[in-house]
Amino acid sequence: MGMPTHEPPRVAIVGAGPSGLFAAAALVSDPDVRVDIFDRLPTPFGLLRYGVAPDHASIKAVATTLARVFESDRVRFLGLVEFGRDVTAAELVASYDAVIYAVGAADDRHLGIPGEDLPGSRSARQFVAWYSGHPDAEPQPMAGVRDAVIIGVGNVAVDVARILLKEPSALSVTDMPDTVLAALREARIENVWLVGRRGPEHAAFTTPELRELLETPGIGITLTGCDLEAIDSSVLERHARANVALIAGAVAESPGTADRWLHLLFWHRPAALDGEGRVQAVRLEPTAPGAEPLTVPADLVLRSIGYRGVPLPGVPYDEGRIPNLEGRVLELDGSARPGEYAVGWIKRGPVGLIGSNKKDAAETVAHLLEDLATQPRRHLDDLAALDATLAARGVRPSDLEDWRRIDEAEIARGGIRGSERTKIEAWHDLLDLVRHDPGPA
Ligand code: NAP
Repeated sequence: MGMPTHEPPRVAIVGAGPSGLFAAAALVSDPDVRVDIFDRLPTPFGLLRYGVAPDHASIKAVATTLARVFESDRVRFLGLVEFGRDVTAAELVASYDAVIYAVGAADDRHLGIPGEDLPGSRSARQFVAWYSGHPDAEPQPMAGVRDAVIIGVGNVAVDVARILLKEPSALSVTDMPDTVLAALREARIENVWLVGRRGPEHAAFTTPELRELLETPGIGITLTGCDLEAIDSSVLERHARANVALIAGAVAESPGTADRWLHLLFWHRPAALDGEGRVQAVRLEPTAPGAEPLTVPADLVLRSIGYRGVPLPGVPYDEGRIPNLEGRVLELDGSARPGEYAVGWIKRGPVGLIGSNKKDAAETVAHLLEDLATQPRRHLDDLAALDATLAARGVRPSDLEDWRRIDEAEIARGGIRGSERTKIEAWHDLLDLVRHDPGPA
């Protein structure tokens, strides 16, 4: 059955985000392995490109490290290939010695409250995708937006609050698309509410991110719903104690008048979004005894209560993740499913920083290489057969040359604005830069 084993092992990675690229880097440190990285988009970097805040240049710079893997002649990038539609799990499993799923968490959690889907309310994930120039993001009307309410107090909530509170002129040095900057200039932000269902000592944001938000130039800061004095700091973990102290200091030092306000509101959860035809207010109910219900005016509501994995066709899925043991994919009954692996958020859930994916990928890849060395090689269809299957479907993968053309065009656009890069956000503009050869229609 098996192919002769002198063929170098081939691994397919589904998803060119941080977890997929860290996995690729770990794989090519083995001198034999060849890697094909598939992505739905013609651009690599996934959440690093479309999730990390545009004003976090130092995290964005991880892309330079991640891109090094493309220098290897044993790595191919196949963009514009959507898993499940253009290529199936069965086809990849038949064509590669191993398949790694690195698809992240493409959906978000819902509140399940009345009015949640009113126009003007959306998830922070969608809002972030929009300001990051994701080609699938729906435009965000910002004209006249005065009051914004963000539900949740994690780092994503902190990112969107900071972007809303910053002067648009301070964002023109980022890679935000011009259309986004123009929309943000139309906003008239006066109030941004950050709503936590527990107290500041329980908030998910990390201290440096909180500090950066509180130091946004020109803002006033208020605190509602909790008494910091009543918190016993001695029992708190270090980061929680630091967060509480930061908030106390920022509120004490807040100017009495400001054009834009950050309102930190704790121990409340949304009960309903109200509005005629679009969101106008958020009704909040207390989650601590003695606190009062509140209604906060809102032109924009951003749900920032966590991301959620999406099931992949033909791949086991359970509660937002692919069931796995240290990256080895398992069937739903817990039995082994050889040849398939998972990394990143689809492996461990939507928690952790970009850098967390390095260790996470190393664990999965160590098991994968161990399996390649100890298990009989599986039957492999010729890669040419897979190429032919894709071509017959009219699927024409984009490659690294296409990405380089997009990259250069974005850098050139940035030059006009005085930023390092300006994102190209429209599908047709991206596709114009892909594949110069006309090819079959
Ligand atoms: P997160 O850290 O899990 O925070 C989710 C927040 O939503 C928590 O405050 C949670 O409160 C709240 N929440 C959940 N369900 C809720 C509900 N039904 N009603 C009201 N509130 C609810 O998620 P995230 O902010 O999406 O971030 C995801 C990961 O990316 C995190 O690991 C984060 O650190 C990371 N990240 C890092 C950066 C950075 O380093 N700069 C930036 C962005 C994201 P409870 O605690 O009460 O559940």
